[in-house]
Amino acid sequence: MNQRMLGLGSRRSVIREIFEFGKKRAAQVGAENVYDFSLGNPSVVPPQIVTDTLHRLLREEEPTALHGYTSAQGDASVRAAIADYIRKTHGVDADANFIYMTCGAAASLTITLSAVCVPGDEVITFAPYFTEYKVFTETAGASLVALDSDPDTFQIDLEKLASAINEKTAAVLVNSPNNPSGVVYSEETIVRLAHILTEKSAQLGKTIYLITDEPYRELVYGGVKVPYLTRYYPHTVVCYSYSKSLSLPGERIGYIFVNPSAERAKELYLAVCGAGRALGYVCAPSLFQKMIACCQGVTSDVSVYERNRDLLASSLQNYGFSCVRPDGAFYLFVKSPEPDAYAFCERAKKYDLLLVPGDDFGCKGYVRIAYCVSHSMIERSLPSFQKLALEYGLPARG
Ligand code: PLP
Repeated sequence: MNQRMLGLGSRRSVIREIFEFGKKRAAQVGAENVYDFSLGNPSVVPPQIVTDTLHRLLREEEPTALHGYTSAQGDASVRAAIADYIRKTHGVDADANFIYMTCGAAASLTITLSAVCVPGDEVITFAPYFTEYKVFTETAGASLVALDSDPDTFQIDLEKLASAINEKTAAVLVNSPNNPSGVVYSEETIVRLAHILTEKSAQLGKTIYLITDEPYRELVYGGVKVPYLTRYYPHTVVCYSYSKSLSLPGERIGYIFVNPSAERAKELYLAVCGAGRALGYVCAPSLFQKMIACCQGVTSDVSVYERNRDLLASSLQNYGFSCVRPDGAFYLFVKSPEPDAYAFCERAKKYDLLLVPGDDFGCKGYVRIAYCVSHSMIERSLPSFQKLALEYGLPARG
């Protein structure tokens, strides 16, 4: 038996542990008295057009075609609709022949990493980072090198990046808006990142690819713009998912977009197709592919998350907690008032506040609070956060 797989399957993630604890606790004290901020499951319903389109497709389309296999890389007309949307929205030269439909961002990333890396390669990312990056990168035979970000802003520390790149670096993996910090990388950061990658690629005599993980692209607040990385650095592969923007995480639908003007773009796309084949990720769910083609540019009502962010971030800051005010996604990354975030999470549990320690995101001393929950739950949870702050003697503001 494969011991690595056995290990991965046997260890439950910390997030799942907390979620399971929450269910048990809810049975004891009532669900309304448990404040579970552990999971990144969208709390907003999918837009009506998603449901309407699914009904229409089921009514009108011929069932064997609707539910049948599509091409391995996805239905051609679906890929054309996505390429069209990317071209119009982001002003880059997208092409259906460089899009590969996937079962969400997890599959997009696993496939892309396997396409880009060979055993012994390194992939650089920035802490805090999505917990599964290490698993996905190691599955591709490469190792993940996580660099600390600027602790005041959680923007990328570009000097650290420049010194970490070496001949083993195959790719740099970024995620903005970020899980778990909620930070959006600024245009200035992206311009400098692209500059470093261009210079280092020239020095090393090879192309370092940029992989951008974008399930939260549309979840931004207050008019903040998320730079489209392909415009800044041509050797970019976009790993997209509709899990969060359309509230469809259980339906498993997303795509990979290889920039047609990336270095050896045709071969890279073929390697993506090959990795999809090798990993068994061919023909993403057919019904959902066809629905997606009709719902380009649509999102769930993300103003709900913005309202949650506003209430939670300002209340916690008033109670004395510190966090970078997030511009996107649906997470707050809060500094633990004691160095051990696990100990802090245990104390929070006394008040039925279920938070996730930042250690698994590569950042000790922080906790993640997923605010994709009902606004009323946040309101009900505030007295508990206040008591927790008082227990630590945090300096209340306002
Ligand atoms: N990347 C990030 C940063 C995420 O937060 C998630 C899920 O929460 C994923 C990838 C996986 O997304 P999907 O459900 O589309 O596979």
